Parts: sequence; C-alpha cells; structure tokens
Amino acid sequence: MEIAPGIHRVTVGQRATPGMYVTNTYLVMGSQASAFVDTGWNREEDIKARLDYIQEMGNPPIKAIIITHRHPDHTGGAPAIRQATGGPIVTAPAEKEAIEANMEGARVDRVVQDGETLALGDMTLEFIHAPGHTLGSLGVFIREKKALFTGDNVIGVGTSVIFPGEGDISLYLETMEKFLRYAPETIYPGHGPVVNDPRAKLRELINHRKEREQQILALLQEGPRMVEQLLRAIYDELDERIQNLARGQIRSHLDKLEKEGRVTATGGDSYQLR
Ligand SMILES: [Zn+2]
Repeated sequence: MEIAPGIHRVTVGQRATPGMYVTNTYLVMGSQASAFVDTGWNREEDIKARLDYIQEMGNPPIKAIIITHRHPDHTGGAPAIRQATGGPIVTAPAEKEAIEANMEGARVDRVVQDGETLALGDMTLEFIHAPGHTLGSLGVFIREKKALFTGDNVIGVGTSVIFPGEGDISLYLETMEKFLRYAPETIYPGHGPVVNDPRAKLRELINHRKEREQQILALLQEGPRMVEQLLRAIYDELDERIQNLARGQIRSHLDKLEKEGRVTATGGDSYQLR
C-alpha cells in the first residue's frame, strides 16, 4: 500500500497480542531506484507477500535492503529478498554480527556510517546510527520528505522495549534527542501506525523513560527492593508475556542507574540506593 508518495508499506497478518502490532516493511521508491526498510519474519507467507509486492510495483531496481536491527521479525525476509532482487543487505556496523546470526548463512553486504547517504533519484536516504532499542539500531531519514524510519526505537503506539544486554536506556535517550534534531515531519515506525506528530511522540518517549526512572528511585528510597517487588509496585496486572517485557524494562533502568553509580545490587536480585 502506498501510504505517502513513493513510500509503500507492506505488513502481513494481524496484531498478535493487544498493543503489539505486526512488523512494518517499507519499500521506498525513488525516481531512479528503490530501497527496502526491514524485511519481516522468515516465514513463507511473509516473504511471498513482499516478493509479490515488488513484482506488482514492476520490479524496481533495489539499491539497498536496509535492516534497522537484529530482531528476527525485521531480519527474516532479507536473504530471500536479496536473492530475488540482487539488492545488497545494509546495516549499521555495530549490528552486523547479530544480524548475520539471524540470517542462516546470509551475509550483510554493506555497513553504513552515521550520516552516510544513498541516492534513489528524487530521494536521498541518510543513515543515522541510533543505539537504544538495540546497540546497533539504524535509523533512515529521507531528506527531501523529512521522513524518518525508526525501526523499533519508536513504535506507532506505546513504548519501545529495551532489553538489558541488547539495548541501553542512556543511549536510547540520546538517540531520541538526535531524532528531534532532524525535525522529522513523519515517523515510519517498526510496528504500528505512522506517527504524524514526531516531536510530541519523541518527547513522550523521553518523558516516559524519565518518569519510570523516578518511580524506581522513589521505591528504592523506601529501602532495598527486589526486581519482582518493583514489577508489582509499578505495573498493575499484566499477562505473562507482557510481564517479561516489563521485567526487562525495569532491569534496563537498574542497569543504567547502576552504571551511573546511583544504585547498587545487594544480591538475591535486590537493589538499593547508593
Ligand atoms: Zn525489535
């Protein structure tokens, strides 16, 4: 579906659980060449939908198959799309290895530096190193349209998940500020609907993280707390899948606070203020 001139979105299936949207794949079609942004799951129906769409569009030359980050719902279709179109797989250097580990033998063809550009004719893509959701996440900005592709650093509805060990909340906050400096007019997220007020959305994501951190610090002010106690204090009833995500968020915040020397682990999965 063409959702803006030259910007097509291909999604497959319905949202999986409430609030969780299927992965967006974008085909950016410039006057001279095209590029994919993310490639969906490695599932037959997903891959077929994407390959069919390229064909429907008249098999445009694919100059890049850009993968925003390592998660399998974004990397899975890349080898098949590469094989069908001959387009190179493009990632950030920091994510190359993790992405290759998810592609069953397929390799990343090209890594791009922060600020590097790719011309598609009437559109110029700029690559943005955007660590946060994962350490090697990559953003893509269409200069002529002020359109920003964020991968999972921003999702259409709700908050981006940051798993401890894979992502980093301090870097995430810096990336949100960096995105704001680009002054995008539209955000095309990794999941969910297009964001038409990027400034408000980016501010909201920054504020959400800051509020969560304050909440954790306030609870620790009352004394040492285990991660499970923090989880129960911060979130009301959560189903099990969401609980794991929530636990990960709390751990990511504790990692950040620990690195900053503001909290310390006391053993037994318990933390206290320093
Ligand atoms: Zn992801």
